[in-house]
Amino acid sequence: MELEGKVAVVTGASRGMGEAIALKLSSLGSKVAVNYVAIEASNKSDADNVVETIISLGGEAMPVEADVRDAGTVQAMMQRVVDKWGKIDILVNNAGINRDTLLLRMTDSAWDDVINTNLRGAYLCTKFALRPMVREHCGRIISISSVAGIVGNVGQSNYAASKGGLIAFTKSVAREVGSRNITVNAVAPGFIVTDMTDKLSPERKESILAMIPLQRFGQPQDVAELVAFLASDRASYITGQVITIDGGIFT
Ligand code: NAD
Repeated sequence: MELEGKVAVVTGASRGMGEAIALKLSSLGSKVAVNYVAIEASNKSDADNVVETIISLGGEAMPVEADVRDAGTVQAMMQRVVDKWGKIDILVNNAGINRDTLLLRMTDSAWDDVINTNLRGAYLCTKFALRPMVREHCGRIISISSVAGIVGNVGQSNYAASKGGLIAFTKSVAREVGSRNITVNAVAPGFIVTDMTDKLSPERKESILAMIPLQRFGQPQDVAELVAFLASDRASYITGQVITIDGGIFT
């Protein structure tokens, strides 16, 4: 139980990687605020299910609604967590979307939606979680970037820009808050089996699988293990880093 007594906020935790991260952090003893956005009808019940699972396993969790693009609701969410549990030790910026298309066909809204959710969302959550972390003189901020943010990807110029921006953001904030004993790192997954990748055609999945040296797609739990490590005391001297977890595609 190496996260006993810790308080974590995981954004976009109603399903996929966010859910796996919330469950993992809870299994190590952390209290978890399970963030969801009420854009999709199922998100609230999914988040409630994640919370119920955690509680049934003996952990502590609560669902917290906030659209990460919206400063007011993000600030209110962080305040709710502090009001309930007194502090925030761990922030996982996981909420993200993609709107894939070639640049020549990209609409302004496809660009803005992706940048606003993936980059502005992480900026807002980090800003409003930082104050309580500074007060405690301790904190862990972990953002889910992507290998697309490192090497780029056809049809993902908006997504890759948001995830590359997240890496530069991570490195900058790490420099700003290191003196406060707060670490800031990014994780860059390759292909992980979630709703986001479920949309790809079987042919595209086959061609990606052929490029993976470990010969399997990643599971949300693979990423959750890395996030849990970065959140723990074992990672206390790691900051400003981006750690790839992709089965070896981009070695
Ligand atoms: P997913 O679509 O299952 O989960 C994304 C989550 O973000 C959902 O719960 C969704 O409701 C939430 N979300 C979207 N907009 C939001 C908003 N405005 N406010 C709050 N929450 C919002 O996909 P996933 O694969 O689990 O994605 C998790 C993260 O991992 C994303 O940042 C994604 O870009 C990143 N990622 C995924 C892969 C992959 O292969 N699946 C690879 C690299 C990075």
